[in-house]
Amino acid sequence: MENQCIYGCAHGVIGLDFGSTYSAAAVLLPSVDGYSTRNMVFFRKFPTSLHVIHGENDVELQFDPVDRVMLRKDRLCHLKALLMNQTNPRNGDNRMVNSFYSSWSGLDLPDEDVVVAKFLKGLFEKALGVARGLDAWHDRLRPAITITYPISWSPEELSMFRSAVRSAGIADHACRTCRVRYITEHRAVVTTMQHEHHNVLAELNSDSMIVADFGGMTDDAAVVPYPDSIPLRYPEEEELELLDRRMLHNSSYTGSMSADAEFRALLLQKGTLKQIFDKSAEAKASLIEALFQQAASLQHNVKCIVLTGGFSLNLRLEAQVKKKLRERLQGDCPVFLETFDRRLAVCTGAVLWRLPHLLRRLIDSQDA
Ligand SMILES: [Zn+2]
Repeated sequence: MENQCIYGCAHGVIGLDFGSTYSAAAVLLPSVDGYSTRNMVFFRKFPTSLHVIHGENDVELQFDPVDRVMLRKDRLCHLKALLMNQTNPRNGDNRMVNSFYSSWSGLDLPDEDVVVAKFLKGLFEKALGVARGLDAWHDRLRPAITITYPISWSPEELSMFRSAVRSAGIADHACRTCRVRYITEHRAVVTTMQHEHHNVLAELNSDSMIVADFGGMTDDAAVVPYPDSIPLRYPEEEELELLDRRMLHNSSYTGSMSADAEFRALLLQKGTLKQIFDKSAEAKASLIEALFQQAASLQHNVKCIVLTGGFSLNLRLEAQVKKKLRERLQGDCPVFLETFDRRLAVCTGAVLWRLPHLLRRLIDSQDA
């Protein structure tokens, strides 16, 4: 019974997180003892990029470079921005896309969704390769696949993303019953938290949590409600109501950093860098504070916050954000929950979301 997923299939689960700068996949196969998160394995891709191989008249994009000599220079980054600003130029800020195209002007690049499909196919094939390398793999094990997307995306952006996933042919490898399903990155993080902190959450007696994703391009923070009991299976799509969501482009203060910091020299004077971080910490703290106040005004009981995303790994920034929030919210300040790896919280949750009986078992064993 434990070897059965909720759909009655005993197979692997793959979760994909297509991040702005950091992408990851989680793979979990059932063993003789059932599904255990201890058996979860990961594939990490940093940065989210494709390699550009120059031909005589054209360019070819590859997930893995054939010729590793080219590895340093010719990399196509900011792939996620291709989907994001294309259909929804928020705040009129197209800096990412502009920098993307200007750095590759003169090259005949494929369309945006083809570029993204190429990356997704590569990421998925790596995850499948990881799965096939595991002892528990069996050729008939077609995995359930969960793909995450940003909570701030418009329906148009999501639709473009899904079309890229279709072009990548990922569904061809999925279990025919369980197929490919989509959830927001925030829902995935909450699922990971319910798994890692089920005992703390039970004590807090809270009905929703703030998930703040400090990414390379945007800060996406949301109040995400969660049930205190785990359903037998989750809804087909993200149907759970989101109380509120707020999104902030951090490119206004980190634009030049996030665009160039990865592979080019970042030359800033010490004072400038400090200013950027102070401004960034202030913006992030204000974002969370506003979200918390709004949730409170709607009688929602938010007692915990989780920080994820690459920028949250900056210790100085994290300390400043926490300090500001504790000063402003005093005794009402939610508890900061930590996850085992902030860069893997999304893909982990994408897998766990397909296995709610794992969470139920945890919660039941605690009640007993
Ligand atoms: Zn299945």
